[in-house]
Amino acid sequence: MSLLVVGSLGIDTIETPFGRVENVLGGSATYISTAASYFVTPIRLVGVVGSDFPKEYIEFLENREIDLEGLQIVQGGKTFRWGGRYQYDMNSRDTLFTELNVFEHFDPIIPSSYKKTTYVCLGNIDPILQRRVLEQIEKPRLVVGDTMNFWIKGKHAELMKTFKLVDVLIINEAEARQLTNEPNLIKAAKLIIKLGPNVVIIKKGEHGALLVTERTIFFAPAYPLETINDPTGAGDAFAGGFVGWIARTDDLSEENFKRGVIYGSALASFCVERFSLERLKDISYLEIQDRFREFRELSKFEVEVLA
Ligand code: AMP
Repeated sequence: MSLLVVGSLGIDTIETPFGRVENVLGGSATYISTAASYFVTPIRLVGVVGSDFPKEYIEFLENREIDLEGLQIVQGGKTFRWGGRYQYDMNSRDTLFTELNVFEHFDPIIPSSYKKTTYVCLGNIDPILQRRVLEQIEKPRLVVGDTMNFWIKGKHAELMKTFKLVDVLIINEAEARQLTNEPNLIKAAKLIIKLGPNVVIIKKGEHGALLVTERTIFFAPAYPLETINDPTGAGDAFAGGFVGWIARTDDLSEENFKRGVIYGSALASFCVERFSLERLKDISYLEIQDRFREFRELSKFEVEVLA
């Protein structure tokens, strides 16, 4: 099965209570496609960078079998840059700067070799551009979408049009509440289902993830890591793990969506162990399977009910 990923590629500067890194590889599409590449290759990447984008980052993506035919490299242009600082609890972060650069005038052009892609993951970009991507693809089997507070607030009407074309929406808990004005997450997910997606996955950071459909509610815990160095990209790694698994298996059953949530949680847990993509770039498939099993153990309890 084929998988197309669209989103940002960038150069990040990240500060956490455990360190600081400058000019490291980042961007939503980078994290999504790297995570998904453990399950399906090649990943068809659509994005934009400037000519300052380091060659070693291009080589890294190529080594992960990410197809770069859809990557636009704007000669003389500067790559998207983002800086963030995490607070002590690692849950809240301040954006230090966002320099859109070549990303500001990004027009996602889908190469003809990508037009028949079966699985599409729309990373967090302008909802108008997310639709532009879908218009150029012949009826994908599944569209997975992500968004953020910036678009919920700034482009609400456009986002509503895009939602009608999205099958699975992955969103964090604050955004789900903001989108629906509903504090209860189950009710919020059901309201989002009325907007278009059949499946809503709400990420709750260190408290796991919730999958809601018309018929099912499924909860996966987060992996209880003792060492978290950098939460950047965890949400995108989750999306990549989820959509990568679904594309690999080509199985759209609810049972398999649940497996996808566990694989997404596993990839997110690897992602936060080190800065940038340092951990995400060299996991073995065996380690991913082991973590899947550990997740299963975490969710299982066999204590008897005592009257
Ligand atoms: P996440 O931690 O999942 O929000 O993803 C972090 C990545 O998103 C970083 O590597 C940034 O380069 C990228 N990013 C930050 N702000 C934006 C934005 N406004 N649009 C697109 N990508 C962004």
